[in-house]
Amino acid sequence: MEERLSAPVEGLIFDIQAHSVHDGPGCRTTVFMSGCPLRCSWCANPEGLLPRPRLMVRASRCRSDGTPCVAACPYGAIRVDPAAPLPPIFDRTLCATCDAQSCVSACLNSALEVSGRRMSVRELMRTLGRDRDYWGPEGGVTFSGGEPTSQPEFLLAALDACREAYIHTVVETSAHADQQLVLDVARRTDWLFVDLKHMDGAAHHCGTGVGNEQILANLVNLAQSSRETRVVVRIPIVPGFNDSPENLRATARFLAELQLIEVNLLPFHRMAESKYAQLGLEYAHAQAQPPTGDQMAGHRRLFSDAGLQCYVGAETPF
Ligand code: SF4
Ligand code: SF4
Repeated sequence: MEERLSAPVEGLIFDIQAHSVHDGPGCRTTVFMSGCPLRCSWCANPEGLLPRPRLMVRASRCRSDGTPCVAACPYGAIRVDPAAPLPPIFDRTLCATCDAQSCVSACLNSALEVSGRRMSVRELMRTLGRDRDYWGPEGGVTFSGGEPTSQPEFLLAALDACREAYIHTVVETSAHADQQLVLDVARRTDWLFVDLKHMDGAAHHCGTGVGNEQILANLVNLAQSSRETRVVVRIPIVPGFNDSPENLRATARFLAELQLIEVNLLPFHRMAESKYAQLGLEYAHAQAQPPTGDQMAGHRRLFSDAGLQCYVGAETPF
């Protein structure tokens, strides 16, 4: 692991959001890293799933302008249907999300954007440094995604750079990652948010595309390792997937046995729906309703009854 750190590394980052107040203490800057081994059907950041930049098309901004994007693409990935000229048709099998991104610069209506940019740790630190005055004494930087551990060299190097600069760090992870890597990350950060989506392996696979064995093993490891890093287990409450009392009780029992006592329940929401359209993806939860306040209160009771500290939504005390 240390050997990997000696090589210069670049990360692929799809967003850097200043003034974030829900993902750790104080006012923070959240760094969203591309690439994730999971495929949760409700994912709020679908533009960060793949380990490469993604073209996003805001069809509502398309105007009758002669469609200069069509001629600009050297891969022939954009064409016009004469019967319905706008928006043009973007063939994602042909789009190489090329470095030139000539379609983006050809579009004068800001209808096109490429999500995901490579940057070095040094460049990231320069960007973060601009926000430092806003963080106050408690704030800092949160690494999210995508899945930050899917870019291990960059994540570890960025965490080291933050520590050297006395910047408080939080990492949000699915924990579907190599066990030593998760421990290395835990050693370098002040705080970990670890997702746990379902206790049943088959159901977990059905909802996320991967089993839960590695995640459960990582939670056991984290529980047994030094407690200098605060660990908060985050559970997205997705109606019809993991919100049964049986599953939530089993989750609470597992965490109570590990003495991982802080749980943050995050109610499902549909705020990412427009991003799926911009990426040309189907959104599987268009008809799903977010859980009500009463339902979330009931879920919280299940965890409190197991002796856990349970926070709903943005309630986590920082
Ligand atoms: S990103 Fe490149 S390959 Fe993709 S549509 Fe635009 S110009 Fe074509
Ligand atoms: S994507 Fe941009 S350049 Fe292409 S048709 Fe729409 S507005 Fe015009």
